[in-house]
Amino acid sequence: MLDLLLRGARLPGESETREIGIKEGLISELEPDAQQTIDLGGALVTPALVEPHIHLDAVLTVGEPRHNQTGSLFEGIAIWAERVRTLTVEDVKQRVRTVLRWQLANGVQFVRSHVDVCDPELKAVRALVELREEIGDQVHLQLVAFPQQGIMSFDGGQDLMRKAVDLGVDVVGAIPHFELTREYGVDSVKFAFALASNKGLRVDIHCDETDDDHSRFIETMAAETIRLGMGGRVTASHTTAMHSYNNAYAYRLINNLKRAQMHMVTNPLDNSTLQGRFDSYPIRRGHTRVKELLSAGINVCIGHDSVMDPWYPLGYGDPMQSAFVLAHYGQMSGHSELRTLMDMITWNGASALGLEKYGLLPGCRADLCAFDAPTEMDAIRLIAPRKLVLRGGKIVARTEPARTTVTWDGREEMVDFLNPPRNQLRDP
Ligand SMILES: [Zn+2]
Repeated sequence: MLDLLLRGARLPGESETREIGIKEGLISELEPDAQQTIDLGGALVTPALVEPHIHLDAVLTVGEPRHNQTGSLFEGIAIWAERVRTLTVEDVKQRVRTVLRWQLANGVQFVRSHVDVCDPELKAVRALVELREEIGDQVHLQLVAFPQQGIMSFDGGQDLMRKAVDLGVDVVGAIPHFELTREYGVDSVKFAFALASNKGLRVDIHCDETDDDHSRFIETMAAETIRLGMGGRVTASHTTAMHSYNNAYAYRLINNLKRAQMHMVTNPLDNSTLQGRFDSYPIRRGHTRVKELLSAGINVCIGHDSVMDPWYPLGYGDPMQSAFVLAHYGQMSGHSELRTLMDMITWNGASALGLEKYGLLPGCRADLCAFDAPTEMDAIRLIAPRKLVLRGGKIVARTEPARTTVTWDGREEMVDFLNPPRNQLRDP
């Protein structure tokens, strides 16, 4: 007998609804009986959403000690340097506890967080390692040692990276474009790869997050990935300089990224506001080449990056907002591209994080997300509420959709944003 039977679930890319059986926390083959049945009424059901790139240690610090008035990356870094002085382990934990709950409510159950290690006491790393233990299996949390001020250019930077690894981070980071020289940048990438490969860890580097077309550390990442045989375990985040590379160089680079089997993370919320700041008109979008990377068969996922911090004052941890912005900013409003956006916040992220038993097939963990919308297009259009979130087959979040009325011709009537109702879901 099944523990739970979900009726009326519409899976991505399918027009008919189907049933999903759940047994002992896993998706199961269907059986005749179930202890409990829930009718989802045609809701789109995806696997749990994946957040492959967020800075949890900085969340909810917007306005502390002051607001970022220009909205620039550099004012953000200056404000963060002030805020870091008052950081405590408990301060970090309290803010992160809040945002993890927001993420779970949004259907996010797998989170990779970068954590700043440029602090001799490593308070943020300690806080997040403790919190990862404290939350258990409620949310899967991966931590990246992230040197905000650089590895080679920050006093004791290499030691702090090693200490963060000893404290138990899962992934090794770097920020080569922020190092004092190009050579330091290359050295920092090689340092990160050596550390990760010695310890059997993954790599996720903030790479070329600038509009400078001379910032080309990603080629060193590809070379190190190939040299060390780390294909599938390496992620390059941001890579906004790729927007400005000449096409001949980009062509060669993208081929090498494919050969290296690297994962890419694009962060449309932060980078749509931060890039192009040194341009007069025309202002470049400063965004990595998402469509070219995807069509080359490279795994690209979408990150949120910031939630209410000195760099980005908005957001509530919902990957659907990031996908919505990428639909515009990355010109991905084509019908099948909207579906691709959903893949980029689910399966693609799962692949970058190396998740196992992820998906909708029998044998996968029953970590699911049901939208208050029937199709991918409607889910993105409405940034539809997650009406039900299941983890290991148990309901862990639910949202009652808002009820809206208008008064028209003197009569109050219900508004349904899913209208006009379509007779049938043609090629949903
Ligand atoms: Zn970032």
